[in-house]
Amino acid sequence: MKQNDLFMDSSILYRTTQKYFDRELQQFQLTYAQLPVLIMVYENEGISMQEIAFQGKYDKGTITKNVQKLESLGYLEVIHSSKDKRSKELYTTLKAKEIMSNVYEVRRNWWKQLNANMTDQDIEQFSHYFLNLSENAKKLVDFNDTSIKFYYHQKVNLNIYPNKIATVFYTGGCNFQCKTCFHPEYVFIRQNMQEIKEEDIYSFLQKRNKMIQAICICGGEPCMHPQLSEFLSYGKSLGYKICISTNGSYPDTLKSWIEDELVDYVILNIKQAPEFYSQAIGLNEYNCEKIEETIQYLKKNNLDYRFEITLNHDIHDSSKVQAMAKWLKSDTECILYSWNVEDESMKQYEKIFKTYLPNTKIGELK
Ligand code: SF4
Repeated sequence: MKQNDLFMDSSILYRTTQKYFDRELQQFQLTYAQLPVLIMVYENEGISMQEIAFQGKYDKGTITKNVQKLESLGYLEVIHSSKDKRSKELYTTLKAKEIMSNVYEVRRNWWKQLNANMTDQDIEQFSHYFLNLSENAKKLVDFNDTSIKFYYHQKVNLNIYPNKIATVFYTGGCNFQCKTCFHPEYVFIRQNMQEIKEEDIYSFLQKRNKMIQAICICGGEPCMHPQLSEFLSYGKSLGYKICISTNGSYPDTLKSWIEDELVDYVILNIKQAPEFYSQAIGLNEYNCEKIEETIQYLKKNNLDYRFEITLNHDIHDSSKVQAMAKWLKSDTECILYSWNVEDESMKQYEKIFKTYLPNTKIGELK
């Protein structure tokens, strides 16, 4: 069977299309690059940049640039969502609405020109094949970009995300070796450990976004995997809230996710007072600068977060608990768990914590 050079043909199609649209859209000061964004907003008023990026497989920088250009031309308005102040909704302006029928006409003319020698059946078949090709390409990009592996998936969790039904994914690997680790199996990954199939994750998330409201990423240490951003972005595009449970030692990754509006809630797991940190995390020495940076960032940022601390009588006592509470001092929620500490001592530690963190409570492991 003779096979055309598909890549050459699609490259010609892309370049000629771009040339045609750039020329025809000049009258509106638009270019081909801005066209899909403008049409997507016009047909889905209130859509977010993340949704456009996900649907069109654009990178964030490209979308931001085109949205800014359309905004400066007076075609788009960017409005803070009333539901979630940190996310932005895009709307077309009256100026855009006035030109849209002409823009559609430009698009229709190009399409008419392209399929001039084709029958209706040819067009239908071509559209079908083309859709298949682009869907397959999108899937491949999704899977490659999301090269993160999850080793366990707890489908439903009612406790981890405040007032939301959550689903929890566990990443593998951690830079600490805490004495109070509840999931060492995700820190020391066995060679025969199976990761969750990506198809299963995607199909679960696509089917359950009406019932489940949040995705939580635990570990191991999720922030060791900056490439998780693709997955978080995918979760956001399906409408999920995102929670990251972290040991706080990767502030740059966490900040970039928060600044990209990929994270809605953080659980910061604190291990010990700074002076004694290395002992608690199984390292010879450890400087808490990075954790301090995370704490300060969360305190200044508008984002919801809570501290979680697991107390172990081998490494914690009243003076260390006091030093830890003093260090964290804040109004945010703080949950204390017992590793091996008796109830009476837990109550005493809770009292110390409440002096500096009034919203402290003792949590039950479920
Ligand atoms: S930081 Fe968390 S995952 Fe890593 S060793 Fe400590 S408890 Fe385990």
